[in-house]
Amino acid sequence: MAKRKKKTNTYKKKQSGFSAKKVLLLLIIVLSITGCIKIALAYKTEQETTKKKTIQHQVVEKKKDETIIGQRKREKEIYGVDSQKVWNALNAYDYENGGKKEVFLTFDDGPSLTNTPNVLKILKDNNVKGTFFVIGKSLRIDGAPNILKDIYNQGHAIGNHSYSHDYSYLYPSRVLSMENFSSDFKKNDDLIKASLDMENFSTRVIRCPGGQISWQKTEPLNEYLIKNNKASIDWNCLNGDAEGPKKNADQLYDEAVKSSQNKNLVVLLMHDTYGKEETVKSLDKIIKYYKSQGYEFKTLV
Ligand SMILES: [Zn+2]
Repeated sequence: MAKRKKKTNTYKKKQSGFSAKKVLLLLIIVLSITGCIKIALAYKTEQETTKKKTIQHQVVEKKKDETIIGQRKREKEIYGVDSQKVWNALNAYDYENGGKKEVFLTFDDGPSLTNTPNVLKILKDNNVKGTFFVIGKSLRIDGAPNILKDIYNQGHAIGNHSYSHDYSYLYPSRVLSMENFSSDFKKNDDLIKASLDMENFSTRVIRCPGGQISWQKTEPLNEYLIKNNKASIDWNCLNGDAEGPKKNADQLYDEAVKSSQNKNLVVLLMHDTYGKEETVKSLDKIIKYYKSQGYEFKTLV
């Protein structure tokens, strides 16, 4: 009986020794697997972080790309002309333009819910681009931001024409108030960005309400423009839709043709704001006139 008991104890000992080894082995295997999983996870996380960083970098690059465009990139490359260069030529009354016939259709004081969509349709039908000098007063109106988006999406250029368009605020006693002027234009810049939903949108082209040459002591404006990389542009032709007695479409056409005579460089002032239905009616004929005379249609950027 005693002998048998001893045998059983030895067997138990042997058995527990085997179990300890097994547990140790198992532990090593588990630890190895855990280690491998940890390494694999760390590798995956690193790869994901690199991927995220690449995407972030691409987004930043894209945003940079979109800054200071004033117009969609593709159309800017095809139609855009440096407005500073055009303004220098206008200032010098040099409309010869190196023998090149170029017309800039410009539309001020919009966008309006009534006329701008029709202007856009006519431009599209004729496959030409224009420049829209928008004001805050018009942009504030419900629905106007969507029209501004259409202007941008259809490849036209956008210029800043002030927020208030208020002569007595911008030029008290006909003298430029640089302080009022810069804050008014900044306010409109912000509204343009918000309307387009594009934080990085910026336009360097401005047009002074009433035209820069109409006001006194505008020298500080030149310094402001240089400092802020902006360019101001007036016009050298007009259809007369804001001057004198109200004209019908035929009279507006005649006026545009008359004021363009002997000019290779044409910056045509028109308006797409409320009440300018006759301008819309005359636009198709005006565009076809410039086409027949061999002009190229360009935008101000
Ligand atoms: Zn205006």
